[in-house]
Amino acid sequence: MTQKPNLRIPGPTPVPQDVLDAVAGPMVNHRGREFAALVKRVAERLKDFYQTGQDVLTLTCSGTGGLEAAVVSTLSPGDKVLAVTIGSFGERFASIAETYGARVSPLAYEWGQAARAEDVRRAIEDEPDIKAVLVTHNETSTGVTNPLEEIARVVRKADKLLLVDAVSSLGAIPLCMDDWGLDAVVTGSQKGWMVPPGLAFVALSDRGWKAYETAKMPRFYLDLGRHRDSLAKGQTPWTPALSIFFGLDVALERMTDEGMEAIFARHARIGRYTREGVKALGLELFCQDERYASDTVTAVKCPEGVEVSALRTLMEDEYNVVLAGGQGKLSGKIFRIGHLGLVEEDDIRQALDALARALPKAGYTPSMAR
Ligand SMILES: *Cc1c(COP(=O)(O)O)cnc(C)c1O
Repeated sequence: MTQKPNLRIPGPTPVPQDVLDAVAGPMVNHRGREFAALVKRVAERLKDFYQTGQDVLTLTCSGTGGLEAAVVSTLSPGDKVLAVTIGSFGERFASIAETYGARVSPLAYEWGQAARAEDVRRAIEDEPDIKAVLVTHNETSTGVTNPLEEIARVVRKADKLLLVDAVSSLGAIPLCMDDWGLDAVVTGSQKGWMVPPGLAFVALSDRGWKAYETAKMPRFYLDLGRHRDSLAKGQTPWTPALSIFFGLDVALERMTDEGMEAIFARHARIGRYTREGVKALGLELFCQDERYASDTVTAVKCPEGVEVSALRTLMEDEYNVVLAGGQGKLSGKIFRIGHLGLVEEDDIRQALDALARALPKAGYTPSMAR
């Protein structure tokens, strides 16, 4: 295959050529002045995208490592946490907390639904000893975005910690860490940031840092206090993935040039375009209420008579379009189209055109043909 594939999975996302070029650059001293300047530049720009006055720490690990860092840096074994889960990433967040000894009280929804702030309020009221609420902003496995601002409002009112998995939302759809009162916000380089996998970003609020002081879960590599102390010196506590940092520096410059509002508008527009295109093919969205449909990933119910794996292979081999399948219990039931980071209408149009041609070959007989 000579042509670059149209990588339509929700991470890793396509990386622009100038970012790839930067990634290929020579190593530098990670305790030197040049890298210190880069670390500070990157940290300042990340603060803008987080819409926070707090430090944004960059860890060398995937997004899951960032979630683990948030948990072990704010909680103690025995703490009760309310885990709001609407899909497989919500379950992962809960199981990290459980692994470190938190008592997890689940607030689980049928996959395809969004969480409701009112349910969160009631759950906290029923169990007043809850210390923290874990929530996924954008559930990548189901293509649903939770009403995070509303959920944050009830969590703030109850004065609990709010830890947020924003891995597939931040930098692509609106999130205001300080205004909404979020206490830990985590994302990863390979999603909306147009950077290869390898870095996670984490920020804590003042409440989060206060919790850090007394948090007793075991931590070393992921100890956010060490990362904060190092950042003050323009460093990271451990040898960072320098190459990915080089790429991030360029990607953030691109994002700053485009502007946050323009980036959000582009994702909203392309999200809508994807959903309309999917429905025009006679297919059904997995998301049950389109008001909560994700603008970074669209999950589509696989129609009767079509096998997801066969469809994805056909899309890849004949049309050069890479789609994602379903995760966990959704395996074989849905496929997903990623549209975050480096994405324009043309990329989606090409994917939809390919779908229109591949579906009949995969055994699809449209009931409401275009
Ligand atoms: C991708 C993703 C993660 C983290 O996955 P990693 O593979 O560890 O980077 C976590 N949560 C959500 C919602 C994601 O989309």
